[in-house]
Amino acid sequence: MTPSTPRLSRRALLTASLTVAGASALTACTKGDPAVAPAAVSASEAPAIPTTGLALVTVGTAAGPSVRSARNGIATALVVDGNLYVIDAGLGVTRGVADAGLPTDRLKAIFLTHLHSDHIGELPAFVMWNWGPPVGGPTEPIRIVGPGSASELPTGFPTTIEPAVPGTRATVDAILAAYAYDINIRVVDENRPPLNEMLLVDEIALPAGATANGTSAPATEPFEVYRDDHLRVLATLVDHPPVFPSYGFRFETKYGTVVVSGDTAKTDNMVTLSEGADVLVHEAVYLPFYEKQNKYSREFVNHLAQSHTTPEEVGEIANRAGVEHVVLSHLAGVATDDEWAAGVRSTYSGKVTVAADRQVFVL
Ligand SMILES: [Zn+2]
Ligand SMILES: [Zn+2]
Repeated sequence: MTPSTPRLSRRALLTASLTVAGASALTACTKGDPAVAPAAVSASEAPAIPTTGLALVTVGTAAGPSVRSARNGIATALVVDGNLYVIDAGLGVTRGVADAGLPTDRLKAIFLTHLHSDHIGELPAFVMWNWGPPVGGPTEPIRIVGPGSASELPTGFPTTIEPAVPGTRATVDAILAAYAYDINIRVVDENRPPLNEMLLVDEIALPAGATANGTSAPATEPFEVYRDDHLRVLATLVDHPPVFPSYGFRFETKYGTVVVSGDTAKTDNMVTLSEGADVLVHEAVYLPFYEKQNKYSREFVNHLAQSHTTPEEVGEIANRAGVEHVVLSHLAGVATDDEWAAGVRSTYSGKVTVAADRQVFVL
């Protein structure tokens, strides 16, 4: 659980954008909803990304696939000594990364927590947006680290499309196949490197005993899924029924450690993964948003409760793991910052931030 390279002593985080953005930039956005949601740090007010050290950027902060606020879909980025890593590629990731001024020419890897559409829906646009030297995009291979195939659908789920359970490799292959005409044209017309040779997929091997229709998230020690000169990445299975496999990631650098939960119900695996982290970016669902409206069925609300984590539960995990700072993101439901944070604060005494789109945290 310790970083592969000696870590500097824990430093208080500078939530660089908080004081810049203030209330005026975090605008109310949802007409007709009972609560308002903050939207984003504006592009003009976003602080510069440091070229050395570690920065966390909450590029997009909404759960999906429904659009219920002005927040973009889920995407989180880390910049380590000027190198870019992106976790999940939800709606708006392409513009969000550009507006945040992230160093896309040094995109090293993309990590996919699971294959729900709100986490991979904009992956095609993101990888095809500006690859290659003609447009200042990345020229080196980009690793895409994500789940392998679930092997089978959950019991009782009929197959409507074959093949029924593609993993990350088949997903990326299908994206390349769908855009083959565009890629073939641009490779010659714009002298771009072949995109298929740049996207290198690493499917995460399942821990022993984990199955789609058995134990989907057995208790496991975090295991390494990626390493380069700038960081080491560990993963653990998380509990996001009926989707399997679903992963949370731990990013260890010499500047500090950031954990990203992916989508999950409360699970002890997240406590293990988050142990002593400087920042825990955790998903959350605000059930009162759904419960107080008649339009959501009891079954739908039950699903949310069983596959996501309430703010109170996020606080319990952070407390047990000894996390220094909780950042709520992948927000399911609409609520005020105070409503989101109150639950976390009821069970956790550390620092709590309800993320806005493009918010920057410098470690
Ligand atoms: Zn999601
Ligand atoms: Zn999901």
